[in-house]
Amino acid sequence: MNLRVPGPTPLPPTVLAAMNRQMISHRSEDFAHLFAEVREGLAHVFQTQNDVLILVASGTGGMEAAIVNLLSPGDHVLAITIGNFGDRFVSIARAHGAQVTELAFPWGQAAAPEHIAEALDADPKVRAVLITHNETSTGVAQDLSRLSQVVREHRPDALILVDAISSLGALPLSTDEWDIDVVITSSQKALMTPPGLAFVSVSPRAWAAYERAQMPRFYMDLGRLKERADASSSHPFTPAVSLFYALSEALRLIKEEGLDNIFQRHQEIGQFVRSKVKDLGLELFADPRYASNTVTAIVVPEGVNADGVLKRLKDDYGVLLATGPGKVRGKIWRIGHMGYVSRADMEEALVAFEEVLANPPAY
Ligand SMILES: *Cc1c(COP(=O)(O)O)cnc(C)c1O
Repeated sequence: MNLRVPGPTPLPPTVLAAMNRQMISHRSEDFAHLFAEVREGLAHVFQTQNDVLILVASGTGGMEAAIVNLLSPGDHVLAITIGNFGDRFVSIARAHGAQVTELAFPWGQAAAPEHIAEALDADPKVRAVLITHNETSTGVAQDLSRLSQVVREHRPDALILVDAISSLGALPLSTDEWDIDVVITSSQKALMTPPGLAFVSVSPRAWAAYERAQMPRFYMDLGRLKERADASSSHPFTPAVSLFYALSEALRLIKEEGLDNIFQRHQEIGQFVRSKVKDLGLELFADPRYASNTVTAIVVPEGVNADGVLKRLKDDYGVLLATGPGKVRGKIWRIGHMGYVSRADMEEALVAFEEVLANPPAY
């Protein structure tokens, strides 16, 4: 199967093989060694000196951890949302009692910096700003460096919390250089590891907020994770040991290829996919200035059976693409191209796509 949904993504053979190993005790020296290796690899991918904590959870768990560790009920939060995952960040913050102002932009667009500036000026109590780096639901990659800069200019001490789940490890993201307090990602997208681990980086500014934060936390307590990691290179609870095997190998592959080469590969593949889609006479959903190099969203043409096309691709060609989530369900198709992906993989998927579209299934 040519799995080209925007996560989970295919695993490199050596990552797959790495999991086929006997359990070790999570209190052993072997695990401490593995844990230390993984931490170092993550710091490299995050491009940070900050702590990077590892949670046994999906990406959403990482987002929730960021909220509950740094905020108190009633805290003012500015949530910048450009799609489904931005909306999810809003829901999480609201579920825990934050006072969220939602700054929503049309799906397919990136956030406008001047509106962020206005919103910050309008509410001097904003403590945290939520941003989605790469909106997987619409195929938009924002200019995170610019957005972070605007927040800092207008509110130097606000916390910047970034969902980088479908970007980190594929698109450039310099946590420290861009002064991002919290970067969240998970194992199953660009990091070429199975689903099940979430990673959260925490800046000194964010640790200061942690000390004051009043939302309840226990399993997700980042301070407890840091304490264990620093004291004994381990995890406070039983971690997903097999996923650590996989992650360690994936991080080794990332180091071997080199971050700049990885960014370059994603850029070339992203461009290739977009130009091929346009050649097929189809319309891209995202603003071309902010087209993502990890996921491409395509507008379903009038009168075409969107689900029928996906089904035929899967049944006849073994190519798995995705529909849109939420309000763009059936209106767009999405192709994932992040992590373990080559131009040849995408060529194969797009040739199949072309053949299906030449004779699309009826309703
Ligand atoms: C995949 C994804 C998530 C959610 O991750 P889960 O692992 O399914 O919880 C959140 N945000 C973005 C941008 C994503 O791409």
